[in-house]
Amino acid sequence: MLIVCADQARVESDLAAGLLSCPSCWGVLARWGYGRDRVLRCLTGDRVLRPRRARCRGCLGTHVLLSEQGLLRRRDEVSVIGAAIEANVAGLGSRRIARGLGVPADTVRGWLRRFAERAGLVRAHFTRYVVALDPEVGPVLPAGGIVADALEAIAVAGRAWVLRFGPAGPWPVASRLSGGLLCNTSSLFPVLW
Ligand SMILES: [Zn+2]
Repeated sequence: MLIVCADQARVESDLAAGLLSCPSCWGVLARWGYGRDRVLRCLTGDRVLRPRRARCRGCLGTHVLLSEQGLLRRRDEVSVIGAAIEANVAGLGSRRIARGLGVPADTVRGWLRRFAERAGLVRAHFTRYVVALDPEVGPVLPAGGIVADALEAIAVAGRAWVLRFGPAGPWPVASRLSGGLLCNTSSLFPVLW
């Protein structure tokens, strides 16, 4: 599993040019059919995505290339999940956030609980990326709590990404840099770009 750009034409040309790396061994990925269709609930309505599958020329492992708009095993767009996290750090409760985003309160509670459980890990992971992307950008400053600190690290990493690669939303960048595992139980591991 690998998180890639939402632009499918770009993914195709990157695969053809051998620019995408295997998340297991960093070998070159080549096209290998498609994964199952996936419905992503977005702020603008449901979108059906047909994820590309790729096979590593080195280890022969196959990987599904998920769009940076989503997270692994989450039906909602990462920007929606991110908006819930931001609203929670700003002091809103899960019921009010759920009403604002039009998703069930239990779903929002699940995102917030998982993110809070992983906040220390997320902060450390994204702080490493800040340094890797732009050593000049300065430290990630304490934001007043472990969850707020994790959010701050994501925001600073997002800014460092934009300075290096050009315009991008902070949450799609967060999906990429977490390998889609921002709100998951798996451990976070470094991802190349
Ligand atoms: Zn490989």
